[in-house]
Amino acid sequence: MSGFVFNEKPIQIEEGDGPYVYDDSGTEFLDMGASYACVPLGHDHDAVKSAVQEQLSKLTYVQASYPVDVRTELYERLADTAPDPIDKTWLCNSGTEANEAALKFARAATGNSKIIATMQGFHGRTMGALATTWKNKYKKPYEPLIGDVEFVPYDDPEAMQEAVDDDTAAVIVEPVQGEGGINPASAEFLQTTREATEEAGAALIFDEVQTGMGRTGTLWAAEGAGVAPDMITAAKGLGNGLPVGATLCRDWIADNYGSHASTFSGGPVISAAANATVKTIVEEDVPGHAADVGEYLRGQLEAEVGDAARDIRSEGLMVGVEVKRGANRLLKELALNHGILALPAGRTVVRLLPPLTITEEHADQVVDALVDVIT
Ligand SMILES: *Cc1c(COP(=O)(O)O)cnc(C)c1O
Repeated sequence: MSGFVFNEKPIQIEEGDGPYVYDDSGTEFLDMGASYACVPLGHDHDAVKSAVQEQLSKLTYVQASYPVDVRTELYERLADTAPDPIDKTWLCNSGTEANEAALKFARAATGNSKIIATMQGFHGRTMGALATTWKNKYKKPYEPLIGDVEFVPYDDPEAMQEAVDDDTAAVIVEPVQGEGGINPASAEFLQTTREATEEAGAALIFDEVQTGMGRTGTLWAAEGAGVAPDMITAAKGLGNGLPVGATLCRDWIADNYGSHASTFSGGPVISAAANATVKTIVEEDVPGHAADVGEYLRGQLEAEVGDAARDIRSEGLMVGVEVKRGANRLLKELALNHGILALPAGRTVVRLLPPLTITEEHADQVVDALVDVIT
C-alpha cells in the first residue's frame, strides 16, 4: 500500500527549528515557504509546542458540544483581534472547510444562491470551495460542481460593481491572490467590492487563509485595506502547523447560518495551538516585524534581482518573483545548491511565504541565492 496524491521531493525532512528544517543527514535548509505559510512563528515554536503538550496531557478531545476553556479563550481572542464588527467564529480543520462554511452561511443568511469569485483565485478543493476556484485543471475531472458561480477579473472594480446584484449571496475574494501568482488587490478594488456587496445585501468573504496571521504586515489583510468584510476565513498559519481553520463572521451571518457542524470543530488540542499562535503573533507584534522585513526584502530584490525578473510583487512577507524561465527548475537549484526551500505559484512565479520571524540576514541570503539562480 502507498499514498498516491503527492509528488514526493528528494529531500527527507526530519527536524525543524525556527526558519530552518533539517534532512535525515542533518543538512540545514532555510524554509522560505514555511510549508505553505503554515508556520508563521517558525518550526517547533516553544510557546505553541508547550501549549499543545500541556493540553494533550490534560484532555486530547471531547465532543464539540461541551465547552472547554481553551476553545472559549480562542473564540474571545479571535473576536478581539478580528476587524470590528466581526466577533463570531466557526472552527474547523482546514482552509477549504472554512470557505465551504462561509459559502453555506452566505446562502443561508441572504436566501440567495449566486456566488461571485475572481479569475486566478484559489479557495480550496472541496466541491463548493472548488467551484469558486479558477483553475480548470483542478475542477474538470469533478464536474458538475455547485452551480451559480460567476468569475470576474481580479482587481477590476467596474467588473465587480457590474456583477454584484440583488441575487448575489456572496463575493469571495483573496485580498492578495496566493496560488494565482501573488497578486495584491488595490484598496480601491476591495473598497468598491465592499460598497457593492453592502448595497446589494450580499456577504463579502475575505479568504485570508494565506494572507492572515500577519503575513501581509497587519494581522489581517482586511485591516491593511481598511475594509471590514462580513466574513474572514483563516487556516494555514492559524495553528502554526496544526490543522485548524476558522470562519469569522458578523452577527447577521452568525445569527442566520442555517445548520452546520463538524465533529472535530474546535478540538482542545488544535484550539490550544491556535490560541498560543495568535497570542504570540499579537503580543510580539509579529505583523509589524513582517512589514519591516518584507519591505527590506522587497527593496533588496528590486536592487539586486531587478530586471532579471519579469516582475516582483509583494505585500509584507508574501512575495512573488515572476521569472523568465520555469520556476520549478529554479526552485530545485535553490534547494540543492543553496539550501533554500521556496514554493511555486503557477509555472513562472517563485513564491516566498517565510516564517514571519525571519531577519534581514535571512532575506539577504535568499536574495543572493535568487541572484545566482536567476542571472
Ligand atoms: C491554501 C488555501 C486554501 C485551502 O486551504 P486548505 O487548508 O488546503 O484546504 C484556500 N484559500 C487560500 C487562499 C489558500 O491559500
